[in-house]
Amino acid sequence: MSKEMPYKIYLSEDEIPKYWYNVRADMKTDHSPMLHPGTLKPMTVDDMTPIFCTELARQELNATDRFIPIPEEVRNFYKMYRPSPVVRAYFLEKALGTPAKIFYKYEGGNTSGSHKLNSAIAQAYYAKEQGLKGVTTETGAGQWGTALSMACGYFGLDCKVFMVKCSAEQKPYRKAVMETYGATVVPSPSDTTEVGRKILAEFPGSTGSLGTAISEAVEKAVSSDGYRYVLGSVLNQVILHQTIIGQEAKAALEKVDIYPDIVIGCAGGGSNLGGLMAPFMADKLAGKKAPHFIAVEPASCPSLTRGRFAYDFCDTGKVTPLAKMYTLGSGFIPSPSHAGGLRYHGMSPILSELYHDGCLDEARAVEQTQVFEAAELFARVEGLLPAPESSHAIRVAIDEALKCKETGEEKSILFGLTGTGYFDLAAYTAYNNGTMTDYIPSDEDLERGFACIPKLPGIQD
Ligand SMILES: *Cc1c(COP(=O)(O)O)cnc(C)c1O
Repeated sequence: MSKEMPYKIYLSEDEIPKYWYNVRADMKTDHSPMLHPGTLKPMTVDDMTPIFCTELARQELNATDRFIPIPEEVRNFYKMYRPSPVVRAYFLEKALGTPAKIFYKYEGGNTSGSHKLNSAIAQAYYAKEQGLKGVTTETGAGQWGTALSMACGYFGLDCKVFMVKCSAEQKPYRKAVMETYGATVVPSPSDTTEVGRKILAEFPGSTGSLGTAISEAVEKAVSSDGYRYVLGSVLNQVILHQTIIGQEAKAALEKVDIYPDIVIGCAGGGSNLGGLMAPFMADKLAGKKAPHFIAVEPASCPSLTRGRFAYDFCDTGKVTPLAKMYTLGSGFIPSPSHAGGLRYHGMSPILSELYHDGCLDEARAVEQTQVFEAAELFARVEGLLPAPESSHAIRVAIDEALKCKETGEEKSILFGLTGTGYFDLAAYTAYNNGTMTDYIPSDEDLERGFACIPKLPGIQD
């Protein structure tokens, strides 16, 4: 090393971005529009406003403005926990004996424990601006519900969270945090909605899925006065808000003269990876030099690596608009794995299109026990207990660094460390006592999910 680089690369408060970056404005092929489930016509802002806040519906459909100003109140809230540091993982490099330089952007330093607060605060702000009473949502692992509870608590909005039943049972303390911020938490499927009752009648022992919880939250929002539905991933608006991560990461790395060769993120619905890679993707789309992008997903829920690129519903109850995305089918219910935040059946339409076009270079599926092996090494050498979701990215960052060890290449690797593992101690317990298993769906399992992808005459058959 010629010049000693700091362990943590900080930005100042003034350097928090003032705009979100809208990658759609630069994409060569914009993704296919969301379709109205009744008419099969592209959704308009007017179609969306019964479900979504008006300003968020506009952001959802905005394919032209490259930069969207971050409202001052949102930016002020960001100052409570941002900029988040970029850390040079010196100790991990040393443990691996790799010539690669490894950097991670840590988003777990707020009470919600993940990057989801970046979008939650923006969405709550626009709901408040519109004069709404409250919002409904679903949560899988609990990070989104917690982030939204914090954001709603801050703006004095009511917040109803449908929490996937198996996660609610695995993580009872999440509920305590959400309630502290004033939210109501309902385990899903529940008997408080029609769609929940229907699913319970059909599958009495159902442990729930994100798709089902979404159906319940949407139904509750459209049937309650002054409420709208908000979502913590997948949507264009969420990727937009999360670009704060990538912009900060790029600015921090510029301070130490680093341009990453590889950018890695775990991919559930695609928001953290979409946000982390966005400003680098801008370089790629402009024909400049760009990193090799890798999306990492669990082998138990492999939407990019084994899914179909097709129009599908975003929920199990088939009440949401149709989105063109990599999907396992809205009826796919993954095994109750420990990476709860990565159990969604589909993938962000933006990431799906970028992957389809070869701009997002690679998707890799990894098995749970290998992920925890990486998490354990990381915790021991870097001193930080990572979330299981984030540990998917750690696994691949380690694998890439080990390749560099073989070839002697000094590549710079950047990955997103999206959250803390403090709420995932049941998962760590299972890993530590050897009861964790790797579940990989068979082709027949996947076929069952694909069978519920809708046939749309003239659009897809
Ligand atoms: C929700 C979550 C994810 C996955 O969601 P994306 O939208 O794909 O980013 C990853 N890590 C953590 C800690 C999460 O809470």
